[in-house]
Amino acid sequence: MIMPRRIPDIAVIGAGVAGLACAERLAENGLQVVVFDKGRQPGGRVAHRSRFGLSFEHGAPGQRPLVERLASRVPVMNRCRVTSVEQVAGGWRLFLDGRPLPRVHTGLVLAMPAVQAVSLAPELADVLRDVVMQPTLSVLVGLPGSLGRAVERIQFRTGSLKLAIRQHNDRPGSSEAWVLHAADDFSRDNLECDPDAVARHLWDRFVAALGIAAPNPVYLRGHRWRYARTEKPLGRNCWQDPARNLGVCGDWCLGHGVDEALASGRALAARILGIPERPVRQPLALTERRV
Ligand SMILES: Cc1cc2nc3c(=O)[nH]c(=O)nc-3n(C[C@H](O)[C@H](O)[C@H](O)COP(=O)(O)OP(=O)(O)OC[C@H]3O[C@@H](n4cnc5c(N)ncnc54)[C@H](O)[C@@H]3O)c2cc1C
Repeated sequence: MIMPRRIPDIAVIGAGVAGLACAERLAENGLQVVVFDKGRQPGGRVAHRSRFGLSFEHGAPGQRPLVERLASRVPVMNRCRVTSVEQVAGGWRLFLDGRPLPRVHTGLVLAMPAVQAVSLAPELADVLRDVVMQPTLSVLVGLPGSLGRAVERIQFRTGSLKLAIRQHNDRPGSSEAWVLHAADDFSRDNLECDPDAVARHLWDRFVAALGIAAPNPVYLRGHRWRYARTEKPLGRNCWQDPARNLGVCGDWCLGHGVDEALASGRALAARILGIPERPVRQPLALTERRV
């Protein structure tokens, strides 16, 4: 009897841009795919939060439509932290909070920052050892009134702040939302501090730097991005071990940014499918930054 060939069934861990882009392309080519993410919603560092009718983009701004489009095309399991993976007969088994999932997947894609990929697959430590990523501490501020400044972005050259971005909100009235990002040194030095205490400090610095009497925030939260940006990339678009059906992708393969994440995810999908990579339709905005 001829047994029907099993359709490859790939587990992608990480629903950031890289993982979603990889999964989308695999699904488009007839493979079975499921994406797992520990977050409440897909997007990873394209992060979004709504509070008090205000919305905040405290990761890469302006990329929600891309994430929503990609995530609508593949099954995404949110709030699923994969704590370990195991290679077994026929593929890979995933463990959520220490408990094994019944399904064995023929292939595995790790679409997350390099350090996190190594924590799931320690054998990658050698391949990924040169990748360096740096943290960023971010602050979400909701105000009952306006700062009275007709600016969208403020860049800081010195001190504990790097950037402040006014958030786009449809809410009528005068309330305003801002996202502040700490300077690189400050983020590194204060990474283990309580994020909300950091938020208070950075908000005070922001108000002092502007020299204004700002209204008291109705919402003030810190967010710790442990692996925010790539300092030293892998230097190739993705990594794959075809013998083990294991692949790794993420912005850090090529550099830093959403375009790099997209390119890396698609490159890994092309490798898994064994097809030449499709030419990119639009030039990548950040190509010149690639290593
Ligand atoms: C503050 C900030 C500002 C930025 N600004 C810009 C910008 O202006 N322009 C730009 O192009 N880029 C910007 N970026 C970078 C951009 O966000 C990233 O390059 C891109 O989103 C990376 O996508 P990714 O898929 O490679 O990784 P990620 O988005 O990090 O996705 C990894 C995913 O894996 C999940 N995960 C990890 N471990 C597990 C596990 N064990 N189990 C389940 N899930 C897991 C995470 O929850 C996450 O969703 C910014 C980033 C930050 C932090």
